[in-house]
Amino acid sequence: MIKKKNFSLKNYNSFNIDVNAKEFIEINSKEELIGLNGLLKNEKILFLGGGSNILFTKDYDGTVIYLNLKGINIEKENSDFSVVKANAGENWSNFIEFCLNNNLGGVENLSLIPGNVGSAPVQNIGAYGVELKDVFLSCEVFNFDDFSLKNFDLFDCEFEYRNSVFKKNKNLIILSVKLKLKNNNHDINTSYGDINDELKKSNIDNPTIKDISRVVSSIRRRKLPDPKQIGNAGSFFKNPIVNKEKLNWIEKHHKNVPSYKLDEKYYKIPAAWLIETAGLKGKKFGKFGIHKSQPLVLVNYGGAKGGDIYKLSLSIKEIIKKIFKIELETEVNII
Ligand SMILES: Cc1cc2nc3c(=O)[nH]c(=O)nc-3n(C[C@H](O)[C@H](O)[C@H](O)COP(=O)(O)OP(=O)(O)OC[C@H]3O[C@@H](n4cnc5c(N)ncnc54)[C@H](O)[C@@H]3O)c2cc1C
Repeated sequence: MIKKKNFSLKNYNSFNIDVNAKEFIEINSKEELIGLNGLLKNEKILFLGGGSNILFTKDYDGTVIYLNLKGINIEKENSDFSVVKANAGENWSNFIEFCLNNNLGGVENLSLIPGNVGSAPVQNIGAYGVELKDVFLSCEVFNFDDFSLKNFDLFDCEFEYRNSVFKKNKNLIILSVKLKLKNNNHDINTSYGDINDELKKSNIDNPTIKDISRVVSSIRRRKLPDPKQIGNAGSFFKNPIVNKEKLNWIEKHHKNVPSYKLDEKYYKIPAAWLIETAGLKGKKFGKFGIHKSQPLVLVNYGGAKGGDIYKLSLSIKEIIKKIFKIELETEVNII
């Protein structure tokens, strides 16, 4: 266990916001975490993974616990499926690489999402037609309220679009995650047009999971700003879900509104389209702004304050509500 006082979190959040934590504790084993019982009573606590879905708006007046729990192993195998267990502190991209090297399919569409394995269930990470819940089996959870350990299955996790029980109850800490993955290249998901276009360009007719991972990574590199170069936390807002009446109303004013049918009643509208149509794409306010090619991403060009980025997000919400009568929901965790 490593403990530090007044510790800078600048290198621990992908927005690169320079704030301090009153105390910072790095935990290297489950036993160390359980050993904190009593020590942190009445203390304000934040569990941190890769910091790629967090916006710090001020110094953190409490203890930040960084879960550096490592280890990946294949637990059960039959001819069709393998169960892979990874500890919370494993980097998600390293985990994907492990899966690809062991020919385990199901997570390749989630390639290049920053962050750690333990945070992946928190917002049920998703990209290119796949969500974590599609391959999720269970996770080991430590309840910081009563210091109990429990296994959560798919049902317990209450997964929804960018949501889960863990986003609602911050005392539930994920220690490890088990996924059920395919032992082969069957059922590859190429439902997203971009993936098909990229495969065609590369003359790949029968893609492997490695091909999909490579293609997804190259699309993402092209479309999203790299947090190592420009501070950001990916999509700042969720894509809003609206009913048919609301969609019809928007269509009356904006004929080209893109939408994705979820069921008979509901449709998803890209938040990026709303922000771009509102004329906000690429707006820069000194050290921060809205990315020039991906309007869903708010950026820190260097030295910005988290509070200013947060205020910008509130202004965007207000403008979108005024124009489209839609309440944008924030995806990033505001601290
Ligand atoms: C460039 C970029 C692209 C992105 N693209 C995507 C994308 O395509 N799809 C997508 O879904 N997300 C995307 N994200 C968001 C982010 O990468 C994911 O949400 C990721 O899972 C966050 O992991 P993290 O370890 O960085 O979490 P953190 O930011 O450290 O934490 C996120 C939240 O989870 C909590 N938490 C952390 N660890 C645990 C734990 N072990 N148990 C319980 N709670 C915990 C934290 O307290 C916090 O509330 C993107 C981010 C960036 C910067």
